[in-house]
Amino acid sequence: MRKVTKMVLKVYNTLTHELEEFKPITGRRVNMYVCGPTVYDHCHVGHARSYVSFDVIRRYLLYKGYQVTYISNLTDVDDKVIKRAKEVNEDPFAMSKRFSESFFEDMKALGVMKADVHPKVTDHIPGIIDMVKSLVDKGFAYVTYKGNVYFDLKKVEPKIGVLSHQTLEALLEGSGTRVETEDDKNFELDFALWKRAEEGEPGWDSPWGRGRPGWHIECSVMSMKYAGVQLDIHGGGMDLVFPHHEAEILQSESFTGKEPFAKYWMHNGFLTIDKEKMSKSLGNFFTIKEILAKFPAKTLRFFILNTHYRRPIEFSDAHLEEAGRSHDRISKAVTNARLALAKAPEKGDDLGLGQALVDAKKTFEDSMDDDFNTREALAGIFVLARKMNEAMAKGTPNKRTLQDILDFFVHVGDVFGMFKEEATGKSLAAANGPSDGEIEVLIKERDQARRTKDYKKADAIREQLKGMGVILEDGKGGNKWRRAS
Ligand code: AMP
Ligand code: ZN
Repeated sequence: MRKVTKMVLKVYNTLTHELEEFKPITGRRVNMYVCGPTVYDHCHVGHARSYVSFDVIRRYLLYKGYQVTYISNLTDVDDKVIKRAKEVNEDPFAMSKRFSESFFEDMKALGVMKADVHPKVTDHIPGIIDMVKSLVDKGFAYVTYKGNVYFDLKKVEPKIGVLSHQTLEALLEGSGTRVETEDDKNFELDFALWKRAEEGEPGWDSPWGRGRPGWHIECSVMSMKYAGVQLDIHGGGMDLVFPHHEAEILQSESFTGKEPFAKYWMHNGFLTIDKEKMSKSLGNFFTIKEILAKFPAKTLRFFILNTHYRRPIEFSDAHLEEAGRSHDRISKAVTNARLALAKAPEKGDDLGLGQALVDAKKTFEDSMDDDFNTREALAGIFVLARKMNEAMAKGTPNKRTLQDILDFFVHVGDVFGMFKEEATGKSLAAANGPSDGEIEVLIKERDQARRTKDYKKADAIREQLKGMGVILEDGKGGNKWRRAS
């Protein structure tokens, strides 16, 4: 059961540079879009930082009773994808598919919930062409002799810097290699909406010739398709503020005439090595797969959540080892509480843990309401775990207190994706229950066993389903099943 808490959630908004009270555009519905990876390689732990942070933000909104639609894209065609495919002599679509699968594997291993939609660019080309065409028709974009289409920044000059909070001069100075330098632009900072495809490159027919989308346009088109013309939350790493997110705002608002394109802009800080952003281009990266071969996924999650999402995190093996030790200290205390439950007295002293739990709950919610401060929330949990250890070294608290503590860790587990297994004694899959698909596979197997008169196997499967909390109702029209309540 999710709890609808009454405390005010505050979110730091890059758009206003202020900590604001969170009020979705429509009631308790939240449409959230988080920029996904460019799939030209395996993801590194910098990506893990971004996706785990936004996963927890999403989960906390669910915990607070919001209905969240979470959209996260895959950039499966762009300059980087094409360049890498050429280098390794692989078909760009086969390559991006391979790395998309690798990304999903990594997210699953990290316990990041799947998005409601994971749209990819190559499935949305007609929508992208329509939006670019409309921007050209409305006079916000221009077509060049090369067959490129650019957004005309001069048409929205007062809005330049809306998200980056920089002057035009500062943006021009800092633009360096981050913006494409092409000789067919009217103005240096104009960004490409559509790019002509060179011979042998992937491309689609368009009113401007064969080409492919510029990078920024995909996020406007895909977020509007799945969430409507305005978003509640738009997220990504801090490097995306300019030009990517500012471009999204300028093109989307010019297209729809509606402001703001997204109400809250949220940006995670970098995961760094030697204080430098971990990135493919600098070559200072470790893939998620490399790190998960050495450390449990929970350790990486704890390491990420033990810092506020906007602050930098310095990556090192020693820091991960330390995170692992901290995680284990809490997880052991929770396991001990669960094991103590069976022998706990019905009545009796709570050994001070009732108050410790009230304090930890309050710290958890106050901290998470304060711009998702996972670090402070974990500090409160740490104090509770310490008090649990101290109390249980003296005796066993009453059953009710222990059960309340375990219930709290189930809630924490829903939000942080940690400690739920220890609190329930079930693997995460079992704690969440089997999926409909898993149940149906077993039912089919049982039907097959009955058809071949292997009643022993059929009964064993019925028992197995019962153990999973699934009740079978055999009837003439076939098997019906329901979950035991
Ligand atoms: P990319 O595939 O580089 O477009 O990155 C996908 C997402 O991961 C973006 O939101 C980036 O800001 C984020 N990201 C990439 N590297 C890091 C890093 N070292 N630390 C935090 N976030 C990162
Ligand atoms: Zn994006």
